[in-house]
Amino acid sequence: MIIDLRSDTVTKPTKAMLDAMLNAEVGDDVFNEEPTVNALEKKIATLFGKEAGLFCPSGTMTNQIAIKVHTQPGDELLCDATAHIYNYEGGGISSNSGVQAKLINGERGRISAQQVLENINPTYDWLTHTRLVCIENTANRAGGSYYSFQEMQKLKEVCTHNNLNYHLDGARIFNAIVENDYTPLDLGNLFDSISVCLSKGLGAPVGSVLLGNNEFIRKARRVRKVFGGGMRQAGYLAAAGIYALDNNINRLKDDHKRAKQLANTMLKLSFIESVLPVDTNIIIFNLNTKIKPEDFVLKLASQNIKAVGFGKQAIRFVTHLDFTDDMLTKVEATLVQMDT
Ligand SMILES: *Cc1c(COP(=O)(O)O)cnc(C)c1O
Repeated sequence: MIIDLRSDTVTKPTKAMLDAMLNAEVGDDVFNEEPTVNALEKKIATLFGKEAGLFCPSGTMTNQIAIKVHTQPGDELLCDATAHIYNYEGGGISSNSGVQAKLINGERGRISAQQVLENINPTYDWLTHTRLVCIENTANRAGGSYYSFQEMQKLKEVCTHNNLNYHLDGARIFNAIVENDYTPLDLGNLFDSISVCLSKGLGAPVGSVLLGNNEFIRKARRVRKVFGGGMRQAGYLAAAGIYALDNNINRLKDDHKRAKQLANTMLKLSFIESVLPVDTNIIIFNLNTKIKPEDFVLKLASQNIKAVGFGKQAIRFVTHLDFTDDMLTKVEATLVQMDT
């Protein structure tokens, strides 16, 4: 039994998902005649109450397209210092869009309306135009923390009053939704654009969808083609996305429960210095300085448990669809044994 805690992207399609993929009706999406891609885009747009959706190969592409459509070269966007768009998208903000990021030190990955307000530039000739606010929910680098509806709404008000576009990197938005009292429709109302990943907790093999109004998605479609993301018979992949939306949202709570249980066990171990609060399916913890993270990862690997270092003394575990209760028991036992 191999236990892979590196990411929630490591899941493999189940038999039922593969059946849905095999049975998909397909066409050429660049000619806009892909029935299953169209069905997926419509389904998720309707769920969030947005006019249109655009199926893309990755969440990096949906975020980068959104940034390009919302801005002009020389503009500035505001995001948290730990944001995926800034740290893990290969410098795409500057290379794809000619835009610079002003980083805000939020609280566990969450920026506040007040912080945004303080970072908007006045309109002098020598200052950069502040054009876009991007938030991440749940926040990956910060350990899977989520925003409350009220916080997101306050940010929206600042955006509206200051003529800023408002983008949600919702790679793990359903992990936030199942823990909160807000719905996809509530979020669709707030944001100008939303990126949703199907290949994280939802368990599809590939794909993310960008949501917005018709005019935004029309422009986004063109940028997707320029970025090399125009796909042909992508309905086989979209079918997996439809299956994931129909079957894998509510079960995310199980991933969160397992992550919390694992974190509670880890808090008692002497070689673990600290564990970040676990709100969803991500556990980030720090080893004490007596252990090198590389050695710890190797030790786990020798027990068929895969994990990744997350900077300095930190390690990240992510629970997901293919991480079962039996695996949880085995990981707990392995960690406890390391402590003796
Ligand atoms: C995974 C992730 C993305 C998109 O990543 P891809 O690997 O390009 O699909 C975007 N934002 C966040 C917060 C993520 O965790």
